[in-house]
Formats: sequence, structure tokens, C-alpha cells
Amino acid sequence: MSWNSKWVRKVICLCLALSVSAICFIPLRSDATTYSDLQKKSQQLKQQKEQAQQQLSQVKSQSQDVFQTLVDLQNQIEKIEEQSSSLVERRDLLEDQIASLDNQIKTLEQTITEERSNMESTLVTMYKWEKVAPSALVLVVTSSVNPELATYALQKVLSGQNDKLESYEDNVKQLQAKREELANAKDEVAQTIASLNTQLASLQSKYDERESLYAELKKEQSKYSSQLAMITQQQAEVSAEIERMLASTKVTSTSKSTGFLKPMSGVITSPFGWRINPLTGSGKDFHTGIDVANQYGTPIKASRTGKVIWAGWKTGYGLCVIIDHQDGYGTVYAHMSRIAVKSGQTISAGSVVGYEGSTGWATGPHLHFEIRIQGEPTNPAKFVQF
Ligand SMILES: [Zn+2]
Repeated sequence: MSWNSKWVRKVICLCLALSVSAICFIPLRSDATTYSDLQKKSQQLKQQKEQAQQQLSQVKSQSQDVFQTLVDLQNQIEKIEEQSSSLVERRDLLEDQIASLDNQIKTLEQTITEERSNMESTLVTMYKWEKVAPSALVLVVTSSVNPELATYALQKVLSGQNDKLESYEDNVKQLQAKREELANAKDEVAQTIASLNTQLASLQSKYDERESLYAELKKEQSKYSSQLAMITQQQAEVSAEIERMLASTKVTSTSKSTGFLKPMSGVITSPFGWRINPLTGSGKDFHTGIDVANQYGTPIKASRTGKVIWAGWKTGYGLCVIIDHQDGYGTVYAHMSRIAVKSGQTISAGSVVGYEGSTGWATGPHLHFEIRIQGEPTNPAKFVQF
């Protein structure tokens, strides 16, 4: 039997020594473990992006409309404010003019009062002189010795006073007419101002309303923008994942075939060789096999005819089968959900040895497949095209 105990020990030792490296890590999200899942995700993201772009452009055009309305309203408000302010000036001017007229009227009325009182005293004087001796008038009216002349003089004074009074009274009437005219004009202006103020209040409330709508739209706009950025980033991640997956599936056999069959079809999620430690994301470790992912429970077949030398649990490898092909080659099938063979059994190429799972140190269902030559792991891609 070419499968000697030394070789078995070497395999087991190596398995233990490399058990940490054999932790098979699938660097895909749990919702996208296969190529078709990734394609589906990519399609979904594309749709989401289109939707977000549509919403964003709708909100943008809405907010542009609202902005234009705000500008228009602002212009109307400014125009009315200008009108109103010039009317307020006009009203103030009219008020000043009215106040000045009031002063003039007041002054004239005082003068009239004085004039009346002067006339009254003239009359009193005349009345008194009609009662006393006419000669006494001489003493009063020094320019004349004639009492009749003196009376005449007093009458002249009285008439002059009366003319003055009448002229003052005319003035007052004119001023009052002017004042009434100005007061009417002022009332008209005040009414126009009031109407403009009503218009202003209505425009202002429209403006405030649109302004808060505008703020809302801006908020929505930034929400959709960041959504879009997030989707774009996810798209880049998924694309990179797809690229990586496609690249890994391009691994082809470069050396002669030694009759190994593909143990399971699927996508290569981790190739053989040095790689960044999948657990820490930094530092290198050596991956002793090749990882192939397919649906959980997919049957795994013997790659070549041989004898099962291990069928059971192995640290790191989980449920694991090792086949000795009895010419220095051995194959390892790890992380299975169920084992279909027994140790010591002879098995032919293509027979089911177990089913895909994620037992041992695996973060998702896949097959960890190794080909060993004299116990040393070698790159399975040299022998099997996945
Ligand atoms: Zn692996």
C-alpha cells in the first residue's frame, strides 16, 4: 500500500499547522454570495440609481420654479414698497402743509379777535362821547375842534377796522378751503397707502410660504444627492466584486492534466496561494487550497479514484474527506455540511463524497478543495479547470 502512515501523519500535521490559513473566507456580503446574486444586486442598484436621479431632477426643477417665484414676488414687493414710501412722503408733506395752514388760520383768528375787540372799544368810545359834552371831544380828538368832525373821524376808524376784519375773515375762509382740499388729498393718499399695505401683507405671506417650501425642497435635494452618492459607492463595490470574481474564474490549467475531475462547479471565491489574511484584512497567509462556492448542499464529487483515508471532523476544515489516490497524490474536501463516505472506503472518480456546507472555519457555504503531492499542497488550478 503506497499510503503509508508517515504520509498520513504528514497530512494531518500539515492540516493542523495550516489550519489557521485554511480558514476559508468568502469576502462577499451575505446577501450576495454568488455571481448571479451580485448581478442581481448590480441591477437593483442601477434601478435605485435611476429612481434617485429622477427624484433629484424633479426636486431640482421644482426648486428652480419656486426660486423664480420668490424672485418675482420679491420684485413685486420692492415695487410696492417704493410706491408706498413715496406716498408716505407725500402724506407727510401734506400733513406739514395742513399744520402750517392751521397755524396761519390760528394767527388770523387771533388777529380777528383783537380787531373785534378794537372795534368794540371804538364803539364804546363813540357811545360815551355822544353822552358827554360835545366840547369835551376836543380834548380827545386833538386834530379837530369840530365835534362832528371828531365823530366822523371815529366812524372812519371804525370803517377801517371793519374792512380789515372782513379781509381777515375772507383770508380765514380761503385758508380753510385750502386746508379742506389738502385734508381730502391726504385722506386719499392714506387710503392708497392702506391698500398698498394690504397688498404687501398678502405678497409677504406668499413669499414666506414659498420660502419655507424652497427650504424643504433644498433639504430633499441634499437627501437625494447623498442617496445617489451612496448608491454610486455601492455600485463601485459590487462592480469590483464582480471584476474580482470574473478574474478569479479565469484561472486556467497550465500544466498537463493528471486526470482530476472538477469536484463541484461554482465560482472560485479564493484562489490558492499567498493572500491577505481574510480575518484581519492585513498581513499575508498561505491558502492551501482553492475555494469554490455554489448553493448550500450541492453534491461534491471525488476528483479522482482513490481510497478514503479521512472522513470526519478536522479542526479548521470542519467536516472533511481526504482521499489518497495511491500515486503520491491526495485530495482534500472541506467545510462540508454532510459526509457521504466512510474512512477506508474505495471510491471512484465522480462519486459523491459529501455536500457543500460551511462547517469549520468558514464564513459561508463553499468547498475548500486541496490537491497534495506527497502531502504538500499544490495549486489545484493546475489540474482542474473550474
Ligand atoms: Zn479555503
